Formats: sequence, structure tokens, C-alpha cells
Amino acid sequence: MKPPFRKILIANRSEIAVRVIRACHELGIKTVAVHSTADREAMHVKLASESVCVGPALSKDSYLNVASIISAAVATGAEAIHPGYGFLSENASFAEICSSCGITFIGPGVRSMRTLGDKARARKQADKLGVPTVPGDSRGMLDVAEAQKVAEHAGFPVLLKACAGGGGRGMKIVWKREDFASQFTMAQREVEAAFGDGHLLVEKYLPKVRHVECQVMGDRHQNVIHLGVRDCSIQRRYQKLIEESPSPGLPDEMREQMQQCAVELAKSVGYSNAGTVEFLVDLDAKRFYFIEMNTRLQVEHPVTELVTGMDLVKEQICVAAGRELSVSQKDIEVRGHAIEVRINAEDPRRMIPSPGVITAYHQPGGNGVRVDSALYSGYTVQPYYDSLVSKLIVHARDRATCIDKLLVALDEYIVDGIQTNIELHKRILNHPRFRSGDIYTKFLESVDLFAEEKACGSAVSA
Ligand code: ADP
Repeated sequence: MKPPFRKILIANRSEIAVRVIRACHELGIKTVAVHSTADREAMHVKLASESVCVGPALSKDSYLNVASIISAAVATGAEAIHPGYGFLSENASFAEICSSCGITFIGPGVRSMRTLGDKARARKQADKLGVPTVPGDSRGMLDVAEAQKVAEHAGFPVLLKACAGGGGRGMKIVWKREDFASQFTMAQREVEAAFGDGHLLVEKYLPKVRHVECQVMGDRHQNVIHLGVRDCSIQRRYQKLIEESPSPGLPDEMREQMQQCAVELAKSVGYSNAGTVEFLVDLDAKRFYFIEMNTRLQVEHPVTELVTGMDLVKEQICVAAGRELSVSQKDIEVRGHAIEVRINAEDPRRMIPSPGVITAYHQPGGNGVRVDSALYSGYTVQPYYDSLVSKLIVHARDRATCIDKLLVALDEYIVDGIQTNIELHKRILNHPRFRSGDIYTKFLESVDLFAEEKACGSAVSA
């Protein structure tokens, strides 16, 4: 079959740029890597058919530099841009600029991005369709008196969220009514400074929930399917650390309802390409609540690929070229269990980034073991970007076997020269509560994984 495009520019870096480059090459498509001056030696630059330097080290000057990236696409004759995740992936204006320059943006249409990519608007759309949302209000709030009314109605504690936020940034819990006004004003100031938009959502804070999300995929012919769910409850500071599919112990009936809600939400805006509908699940109350939609490929997409056998990136590229989805809902079968751990270059105790030169590198392999990484021996992990440097994903016939396999793979993984969170992952996977599937978003706050070392005062090696 003829390749869907001749050449694609990947507007990203690190493991996701490598992931997309591989999919393009498998489809017979040439690739253009873009990079900052700090990333000249990066793996994505080495693997792409050609590369263009788009600016200095800081992301705002390079990977977020729209003019530079569009110029690189035009100059190299790229017909499409894959944005990966983060950076420009959820920027509807960037998608609009691509199309005005005759370049295909590999992602949903601009209208869907604007409706579902905004937390407040997406909540409104969910309300309209009868998809349950967390008690609170779907309007972004600026006025403190009005926001206080919403908080009183929802009941304390409440969570304040930046409408323009993401990645767990701009969230604040308000525990007591008397603190609301001051906390709201403070949160607003912080959010305004960080995102240039002070609108806040006010939601009831749910203390014991799972984060369960549903992968959807649509084409430009009104077909939308789901690819099951992922459980991303193991988080730190609202950021995911471990993801798995399926979600352990989630009742089938609830899962089916969530999947149906996700497809309805996507269909209601004529959604095409990959997207993820996120929910919080209160297993005790047997209820689930929509929180937001991510209108892009997720970091954790490989777990879905391993249990469904689909290649989500290839599918994204093909539907962006106008093709119909290669499968229909009845072809999707979730088989076995997959777990992903995010390997971060960080000091595991202090949780601060640990950039530097990789002096020795060996990655695990074997049946059912996948590593999505951009690391190699001699590579310098840069201090300017996200600390996620590699993802280890394992597939096995059931969850217990998957955990055991992952532990063996983590034991084999050698990343010398920098610190990583590999040891932290081993401790989580070995914890009896994790093994039994007793997981919630506050799991890491509720267990002390380094208790022994604290007791004898020894250091944890990465
Ligand atoms: P972001 O876009 O910043 O990632 P999300 O709305 O997706 O924000 O939420 C990220 C995480 O924050 C969730 O996975 C969950 O752990 C927590 N969270 C979000 N909303 C609530 C809520 N109403 N109650 C409790 N925790 C929440």
C-alpha cells in the first residue's frame, strides 16, 4: 500500500520522537527531526532521515518556537507534523497554523481540540451528554464570591484547578471553608503567572479514588472506537508514575459504561485521531466521574498497544491522511495485562532532576519486554527538559506474572552516571498493596517505601 505521507516532521524530542520516527519508517515515510542546540547528539536526531536545529536549549525558544518549526517543515518539504505529547501537541492555534500552511497536523481537528481540550468546556460537554462529572461547576471562575458558593454547594474539601493547566500543575486543595477566599486568591495569582489565564475550576476533592482513563481513536469518517482502559493511579504530585491495562478489580459493568461515555463524548464533537478520556473512580461508592480529555497521544499509550496489538502511532498517521480506521470495535480484544513504569532521571529521595552523562547503559529485553527510550551510553541527559528519559513496558498473561516480569526487567536495567527512580519502582511493585491491586491516587503518600533505610540511616542507591 502507498505510504500515507512522503515525509513527516516530528515536533518533539526524546523517547516519543524516537517512537514516532520508528512508526514513520515502518510505513515507508521519511522523517525530519527538529532539535535544540542542546540536543544535537540526541537519539531522535540520529535516527531521523534528516534534522533541523530550531533554536537554543530552552523549550520556549526551540520546541515551542512555532515559527521555527513551521519554517523547518516548509523548508524540508514535510507534508505533516506529528507533535507527540507535551510541547505543541494540545495547542489548537498551532494546529490551525499548520493547516493554513498546507501542512497536516497529526491530531484531532481544531474545533475538537478547542471544545474538549479545555477542562471547563469539556466538563460542559460531558454535562450536556449526561456523562457524570465531579460535583462542582463547569464554569471557569474568576470571582471569589461566586466560586465560594460553588464550593459550599459541592462541600469541603474542594480542589481548585487551573482551566489552562495540565500535568498536575496549578492544583490546590482547600480543606476548610474559612480558608477558601485567601486560597482562591493565591491560587489565581499563581495560575495567572504560570499560564497567563487565572480562570479556576472548583470541584469537590475526592480523597480515595482511582485514575482510570479510556483510549479512543477516531477517523474523519465519523468512526470512533475505544481501546479499553488504563489505570494510572500510581502518581506523585498528581503526575503519573506507573500505568497499567486493564484496571485491576474494576467491575466490568463500570468499565463498559466508562468506555461508552468516552466514545459518546468523542463522537459528539466528530472527534478524529487519538484521544484519552480521563475519569476518577470511587470504587466504594461504585461511581465514576469524568475529569478531562487529553486531545493527543499519551505517554502511557504503549500499555494499550501491548494488550490490544494495535500500533496507535501508525493509526494516527493513517487517519490524519484521511484513511478510515483499520479496525472496528468488534476487532478490539484486550489480552493479558501490561504495565508501564516511567523511568525518570531524578534523585529518588529528594525527587529533583538528575541530569548528566550516561556512563554505562544496558536495557532489558526478552519476551513481552518493551523499552521506549532515547538513552545510550555516552549520552548527556539535559537539564532543560522533562526528567522522563525512558519507559519500560511489560506484557504477560495476567497481572501477577506481569509484575514479576517487570521486576526482573528492572533488575537488569543499568543506567549509570545519573540517578533514576528504578529502585522506587521496584519497591512499589513489591509492595503487598500494589500487588493485591489495592491502589489509589494517594497510594505513594500512604506508604513509606524507604522506611528501612531511614531506620538504619543508609542511603538508597539508584
Ligand atoms: P492535569 O490536567 O493537571 O493532569 P487532571 O484533571 O487530569 O489534571 O488531574 C490530575 C490528577 O489530579 C488526577 O489523576 C487525580 O489524581 C487528581 N485529581 C483531579 N481531580 C480531582 C478531584 N476532584 N479529587 C481528587 N483528586 C483529583
